[in-house]
Amino acid sequence: MTVPFVDLSLQHQPLESKIQEALMSVVRQGDFILGKAVTEFESAFAAASGVKYGIGVSSGTEAIALGLHACGIGERDEVLIPANTFIATVIGALRSGAKPVLIDCDPATALIDLEAAAKAITPRTKAILPVHLYGQMVSPAGLHDFAKSHNLVIFEDAAQAHLAEREGVKAGSIGQGAAYSFYPSKNLGALGNGGIVLTDEEAIAKKVRSYRNYGASKKYVHEELGTNSRLDTLQGAVLNLKLPHLSGWNGDRNRAAQNYDKALAALNQFLVPIHNQSGTGHIYHLYVIRVLPASPLNRDEIQQKLRDRGIQTGIHYPIPCHLQPAYQFLGYGEGDFPRSETLCKEILSLPMYPGLTEENIALVVSTLQEIL
Ligand SMILES: *Cc1c(COP(=O)(O)O)cnc(C)c1O
Repeated sequence: MTVPFVDLSLQHQPLESKIQEALMSVVRQGDFILGKAVTEFESAFAAASGVKYGIGVSSGTEAIALGLHACGIGERDEVLIPANTFIATVIGALRSGAKPVLIDCDPATALIDLEAAAKAITPRTKAILPVHLYGQMVSPAGLHDFAKSHNLVIFEDAAQAHLAEREGVKAGSIGQGAAYSFYPSKNLGALGNGGIVLTDEEAIAKKVRSYRNYGASKKYVHEELGTNSRLDTLQGAVLNLKLPHLSGWNGDRNRAAQNYDKALAALNQFLVPIHNQSGTGHIYHLYVIRVLPASPLNRDEIQQKLRDRGIQTGIHYPIPCHLQPAYQFLGYGEGDFPRSETLCKEILSLPMYPGLTEENIALVVSTLQEIL
């Protein structure tokens, strides 16, 4: 038996005829650009997240860029971003014109450390871009206190947190706006690229709607400097039919994570899971463990041995943003974010997807036991 890192066919096979039907209905309708399925999906996803407006865009990266811009963030503004996020968070902020200011993480949760963020505040700091990494939200109460005391915009990168919850608050509803990605392997994935901006503020929604469509509020009248970053109707149609399954899939992931937690407890002198502070509100986009210094094998050795035995894993992410070759112009260097740097060498993402069985999990854990 082998265990893949993700298996999207498990969610697509049962939906195959519905997907065909949905795609063909758009083809027959012919409303490929900003068609009915996009509007329907925007409303449905916003409502499911407890937010008023949803604006479908072409990717999560674009959702960050256009969403920040619509919140009034741009040139000369500094935005606080965790150093251990996927690079697209930084790219989105740069595309809005803002300057990314990187912040170290809490190694137990891998989430942005708000105490470290407080030390990075300058008169130019305008926003915090918290990343709900791996599917666990940054504390909403913590973010509210922080933003209030420093007078900042909160714009969530919720690309890994579709319908996540913490402290009774849903992802995407904490601050002025939030960005999501529907990259195929996300908890809610399109059959290609896609994203959405969520906001409760009509003015922000209106701006994003304009930016994504050439800056036009009316055809051929361009009131804003816009771009072409729309969510395709074909993708909207697929997302619409997947959305009712999302909370079930998230529940599957959370249960699988609890199984991992239990089974891995026997190895806790060598390996510990990233700490879950949100209970069932953690939607486990990824199930990530840390390989501790006491382990007889390091992370790379463990990954190789698992691969040799047919178990695929991932590393999210092996290089922190400040050490990426293209981002040296930000002015950081080795040692600037020591906790993120250490974490990048310790983390390993185990197989995680809806439909992962108890047998799969038992095999992953027994294989870990055997090689350690
Ligand atoms: C996937 C992801 C993005 C980017 O989304 P795309 O749709 O690939 O542009 C941004 N931030 C995080 C944390 C992500 O995981």
